[in-house]
Formats: sequence, structure tokens, C-alpha cells
Amino acid sequence: MGGTPTITAKPNERKLNIWERMYLPEVLKGLGYSFKRMSDPMYTFQYPEEQWYPPDAYRGRPVLVEEEGKPRCVSCNLCARACPPMAISMQSHEIDGPKEREPQWFEINMLRCIYCGFCEEVCPEEAIVMSKEYDLTFQDRDEAIFGMDRLLVPKERLKDRLDWLAKQRNPQFGEEVWDHPEENNRHSLQNRPFLKALTAAKGH
Ligand code: SF4
Ligand code: SF4
Repeated sequence: MGGTPTITAKPNERKLNIWERMYLPEVLKGLGYSFKRMSDPMYTFQYPEEQWYPPDAYRGRPVLVEEEGKPRCVSCNLCARACPPMAISMQSHEIDGPKEREPQWFEINMLRCIYCGFCEEVCPEEAIVMSKEYDLTFQDRDEAIFGMDRLLVPKERLKDRLDWLAKQRNPQFGEEVWDHPEENNRHSLQNRPFLKALTAAKGH
């Protein structure tokens, strides 16, 4: 019947003496074990004073690669489409120059991000990569939405991860690492002859 206490004691079970009923022997045993282990080597970090530096394969918070003060991102939206919890949103705008498009704004909701690394995998430009940052704290939900100001990280500071990604690429080439060509993935519309002709025609 619900609410009725069940007696689990076996018949003839040894009765505890007063010290045992006060748990004192067990407490002293525990303390003794702790003192005995005090001279053992320490396997933990004195976090946060002592920080853990993760390996290059580690997936910390995703960041945008900044190259010469500008985002490498061409705002193709692939990462946002691939992101399982739909943590990424962006708005693109056209710019002058060979890249033609750039994010006007780019946001990642870090409360949604599950650190899966899919955004990094699908990005054709290696413009979004997983960093080594793992200790994020927020005071409120709005603070967890990272804009470009917090997402952009100079590529020099992401060297470890970018080098690691280069090594993972095309392993069938063995030692030879396929370099990411600058011109790659620039599907320019601006430089196409028919557009030039159209612009010229419009000018007349
Ligand atoms: S790591 Fe995964 S969850 Fe986080 S932004 Fe990238 S795709 Fe989305
Ligand atoms: S996939 Fe890469 S280039 Fe495309 S929008 Fe995302 S970060 Fe930018």
C-alpha cells in the first residue's frame, strides 16, 4: 500500500552500537583515507587560476575568422542551414571587391549551440571554425547571443585550429597538404562579360 514504510531489516541482523549509530567510526575512517592520500600527485587543475589548454582537435565555441580586419565569411548561409539547433542567423550585403558579399550582421545564439562543428565542416571558405574557448558565462539570455564583435577572431590567433584543419583535409594526399587557394569559391558575377555589357548598355 502506498505510503506504508517497508521494514528491510533481516532477522538476527547485528545491532549497531552507539558509536556506529553516530557514524563516528565511518567519519574517522573517511578522514584517515583523505589524510593518507594528501601526499599523492594532484590530477586536477586549480581552475580558474590555472586554465586547461585543449588540444587542436577540441571543439570550443565557434568563431568567425578575421582576415586583414575583415570577416573571411562570404555570407553564403550554408552554416546556418547545417546548424542542427538553428543557432546561427545572418544578413548579407553586397560589397565591392572580389568577395562581393559579406555578412551585414552575423549572430550565434550560444545557448542553442551544441558545439557539433557542422558549421565548420560545411563552410566553403573556412570562415567559421571551432575555437578552444570553453568557459562561457552569461548574466542573461540576450548576453548569450554573440554578434560579430564577439565572433570575429584574427586568423593568427586561430592558427592551431586552421593548421589542424589543413592536416585533416584530403588525407589521401599523405604528407602533401592541399592549400586553400585564395581564389577558390569566388563565383564572381561582377566580372562576367555579359554583366559588363549590361552595365555599359545601361550607361547609354
Ligand atoms: S557548432 Fe553546431 S550547433 Fe554550434 S553553431 Fe555550429 S553548427 Fe550550430
Ligand atoms: S558557411 Fe562560412 S562563408 Fe558561408 S555564411 Fe557560414 S561562415 Fe560564412
